[in-house]
Amino acid sequence: MFEDVISFIQNTYKTKEFIPLHEPRFIGNEKKYLNECIDSTFVSSAGKFVDEFEEKIASYTGAKYAIATSNGTSALHVSLLLANVEQNDEVITQALTFVATCNAIRYCGAQPIFVDVDRDTMGLSPSALKGFLENNTTVKKQQCVNNKTGRVIKACVPMHTFGHPCRIDEIKDICNKYYIFLIEDAAESVGSFYKDKHTGNFGQVGVMSFNGNKIITAGGGGCIVTSDKRLAKKAKHLTMTAKVPHKWDFNHDMVGYNYRMPNLNAALLVAQLENLDNFIHSKRKLANMYEDFFKATDYTFVKELAECKSNYWLNSILLQNKQQRDEFLNEANSQNIMSRPIWTLMNKLPMFEYAQFDDLTNSEWLEERVVNIPSSVINMN
Ligand SMILES: *Cc1c(COP(=O)(O)O)cnc(C)c1O
Repeated sequence: MFEDVISFIQNTYKTKEFIPLHEPRFIGNEKKYLNECIDSTFVSSAGKFVDEFEEKIASYTGAKYAIATSNGTSALHVSLLLANVEQNDEVITQALTFVATCNAIRYCGAQPIFVDVDRDTMGLSPSALKGFLENNTTVKKQQCVNNKTGRVIKACVPMHTFGHPCRIDEIKDICNKYYIFLIEDAAESVGSFYKDKHTGNFGQVGVMSFNGNKIITAGGGGCIVTSDKRLAKKAKHLTMTAKVPHKWDFNHDMVGYNYRMPNLNAALLVAQLENLDNFIHSKRKLANMYEDFFKATDYTFVKELAECKSNYWLNSILLQNKQQRDEFLNEANSQNIMSRPIWTLMNKLPMFEYAQFDDLTNSEWLEERVVNIPSSVINMN
């Protein structure tokens, strides 16, 4: 079984050696900027590459402000603090996500609530979100109160799974109606657009990751994007130990964090950003090849919504059931082709097993069927 899929992937990558899921590509100015950075001695959290990166990612995404952070998880943590998420508040997110989304909620002492995803986008379902809020909450004094727990639902964190934008404009309208602060986890969707607008720009804030496995990398890094000046200022303040600017005095006006991206990482990232559009072009070509190939098989290739442009960070297919998925994972991995299942649902992990969750039919259906297949940029022509 699966010989056709395996030989297609081997032919595409022109090798029978190990094919990773996603490898970074350093084909531009990475070494040049890193050398420049070292020569300048500004390798830590102050330096021109950090500022340059912030300007460039803001202009690329169309956000007014960008704040570079040490990683995507710290960017999520700070974003939740910007939403005033505190001890015993609640935050709605999807059960089908990477664990960082939910860890950041717990860093604030808040509890996640898990709502279902749509099958086609694998991201938060607006109809499930609306249904949950209608059946379980009451708006009082411009706050959304959970009828069951009496706690305030302060924020909602949808995620654009594997780079495919979810139905974010509908989610935005629902959050506005219920006075819920919208934070987009766009960690995987740098370079993905929903109706011509970059993901991360629909909520009050958006979060991106530049970890080694993402579409562009800083080694480790992240950022917050927003068009709200006050939030941007506060985000920068929080990531820089909340130090009050002064020539020499050490004054800090709140508990801050050391979450700023180092200049060394930003140097790598500025070079990577110069090739982002080339990477996306190549990845969309690969996705087209996969799509054509899988049409003639019993497996479904996951595509972007018609109104979106996905970065196709990680390609994914749907097997027919869990047994077939496990057979595929076994076969592909034993043939040197790296393949992974989608994440275990968050409500099944020990630290979130007491969290409230809604009907998760689609999440469970996808959990059993989705696998990622090799997605590295192939060639740049
Ligand atoms: C990668 C990722 C993060 C975390 O980013 P790090 O930079 O690894 O901390 C958060 N959410 C999602 C959905 C991710 O894929």
